[in-house]
Amino acid sequence: AKSNGRSQVRFFNNTMRKKLKSHADIENDLQHGIEHNEFELYFQPIFTIGDCHVVGFEALVRWHHPTKGFVPPNDFIPIAENTGQIINLDLHLLELAAKQISTWQQQGKRFLRITVNVSSRHFASLDFVSQIHAIYNTYQLPLGSLCLEITESGLIENLELATKIIEGLSPLKVKLCLDDFGTGYSALGYLHQLPIHVLKIDKSFIDHLKDTPTPLVDAILSLASSLELDVVAEGIETQQQLTTLQQTKCNYGQGFLKAKPLPACQAILLIDQPL
Ligand code: C2E
Ligand code: CA
Ligand code: CA
Ligand code: CA
Repeated sequence: AKSNGRSQVRFFNNTMRKKLKSHADIENDLQHGIEHNEFELYFQPIFTIGDCHVVGFEALVRWHHPTKGFVPPNDFIPIAENTGQIINLDLHLLELAAKQISTWQQQGKRFLRITVNVSSRHFASLDFVSQIHAIYNTYQLPLGSLCLEITESGLIENLELATKIIEGLSPLKVKLCLDDFGTGYSALGYLHQLPIHVLKIDKSFIDHLKDTPTPLVDAILSLASSLELDVVAEGIETQQQLTTLQQTKCNYGQGFLKAKPLPACQAILLIDQPL
């Protein structure tokens, strides 16, 4: 029993060591990846719930790693969050998104809002305001063309500064969306104090939808309506989920039923007719 125990310990240690090594690899490779343009944004349509017209895209990062191949965001975003590299990575991806908006503008495409995921770490310094203003200037972005998606936890820790930052972005008509709403510690008491515009209902709540809205989805929708916020339902995978949402006040949807995240050149082909 004793030796068995020891080998389990060793096995565990080896797995741990491998994991630690791959974390260290990724940490080292992130900066290199930014400098060598290994990151690409994919674009997933966000559409009106009623008639499924594309109103914009959520930008989702894809990493083409030179030796590991495709590395999914869940394998490096949390590491970048921990090391603080997320700040540089987010700014790089915001710039890629801005470049794409400006390309589509020059091609005469109609107005689309691009939603970019950013860490709540940005909401701890006023630098973020000037960084976003600089991106708007460099790429001559139309007002309202960027939406920033954040999870609520970081905002609430720093409510006063976060509010100042969001106000600093308001001349650019930057929209703010709370992602994964309903998971984690929903500080409902603070919601009315946050100058945000959109709630995104987490996929886990959409998964449970059958032919009537669940009490939880109902509650989120009436909360949003009383605060005059738009709502996006994420992770719509079935026609039944969509049909049910069409009977509610939910404004927008997103999910594999209508479209997966796609490279820019494929995503843009979807904007001229209903999905
Ligand atoms: P998220 O922001 O909640 O993004 C939604 C995730 O759900 C995306 O996974 C998307 O591809 C996936 N998804 C969308 N519709 C469906 C559906 O109908 N069914 C299912 N099963 N999945 C669906 P992805 O692209 O792997 O991203 C995972 C997470 O990584 C994101 O979750 C976000 O937290 C983070 N992430 C992705 N891109 C970025 C980025 O550019 N910057 C930052 N900071 N985080 C990012
Ligand atoms: Ca998101
Ligand atoms: Ca989400
Ligand atoms: Ca999520």
